[in-house]
Amino acid sequence: MTETINNPNDEIANLHWLLTILQNIDVGLAVVDSNYRVQLWNGFMENYSRINSSALLGKNLFENVPGLPEEWIKNKIKEVLMLMSPVTSSWEQRQTVFDLPSSRPFTGGSGHMYQDLSIIPLTSIDGSCSNVCIIVYNVTEAAVGKLRLEDANHQLRMLSITDGLTKLYNRAHWQECLEQEFRKYRRKTSDVTLMMFDIDHFKHVNDTYGHPAGDAVLRTVSGLLKKFVRNSDIAGRYGGEEFCVILMDATESAGRLVAERFRKLIEQQTVHYQDMVIKFTISLGVSQLTPEFATAKDWMISVDNSLYYSKEHGRNQVNVWSEIPHSDHLEAKN
Ligand code: GH3
Ligand code: MG
Ligand code: MG
Repeated sequence: MTETINNPNDEIANLHWLLTILQNIDVGLAVVDSNYRVQLWNGFMENYSRINSSALLGKNLFENVPGLPEEWIKNKIKEVLMLMSPVTSSWEQRQTVFDLPSSRPFTGGSGHMYQDLSIIPLTSIDGSCSNVCIIVYNVTEAAVGKLRLEDANHQLRMLSITDGLTKLYNRAHWQECLEQEFRKYRRKTSDVTLMMFDIDHFKHVNDTYGHPAGDAVLRTVSGLLKKFVRNSDIAGRYGGEEFCVILMDATESAGRLVAERFRKLIEQQTVHYQDMVIKFTISLGVSQLTPEFATAKDWMISVDNSLYYSKEHGRNQVNVWSEIPHSDHLEAKN
């Protein structure tokens, strides 16, 4: 039987190895005591922070390492010491704690290191605990990958709800918004009014100046519309040259004023396309949501009818639903 001899030299050798490992491990380690004096600052921390361990040991962490969220770290450390259990923080909660550069600023796509953190209590043999170890994981690649994916998803989502030519909401998404506002209105009775308009004789614009010139007109109109409506309003391209806006917190008379101002703005516009100068007008309809409408579709039909009325009565004008003669049955006009 072989007997294990407890050789003190072996223990020292083991400790030495351990220190070498800690020094070279690809994870940041910083030990601080309850007064935030640094007790250990491993190679990873030295390399990335460019602060030598020898310049830090025994000194206050916050006075010697710039850019730290002092209150936040202190609270975490206090929590660890009090509860004697680890706490963690992911980059999604706080992207960086230590102001460290990314190891791969070019391929990583980020200048700074995204960090996950664990702070663990270091308990002495007598059970007391007055030191913690802050473990810093470099998660830049995973974080940048996730952010890129989120960004790509966001762009895809925007593409799926946006009209390519005018960059307004497309019909499908705008209609979803309409349904949503209709449902909301059922719960709280704030004023909401629909405005719809259609470019007058747009076929003539296309026929006279060409389709690309027609596209330029559509872009001009949508650009003006975006600037004209409030941020809370919801504008969309409903059809070829038909646009709809949900005017939030607006009564019919407010809607009429908005529509009339927009009508005038368009009337004064001149679109220059190549060497052509194009003038055009729009016809508008306005309808406030009232209990008269059982569905969002009914509400939509009412504004469509008001617009149709404007077309029938000479174009380049605004008509509101409550003032036009209409039958009890709502019917779509086009
Ligand atoms: P009205 O005053 O009655 O509205 O007459 P209009 O000529 O505008 O009649 P209508 O609404 O029927 O015509 C719409 C035209 O819009 C027909 C279509 O070719 C054109 N159009 C639809 N989408 C686009 C587009 O994206 N670009 C261009 N240039 N034209 C489009
Ligand atoms: Mg038209
Ligand atoms: Mg039309």
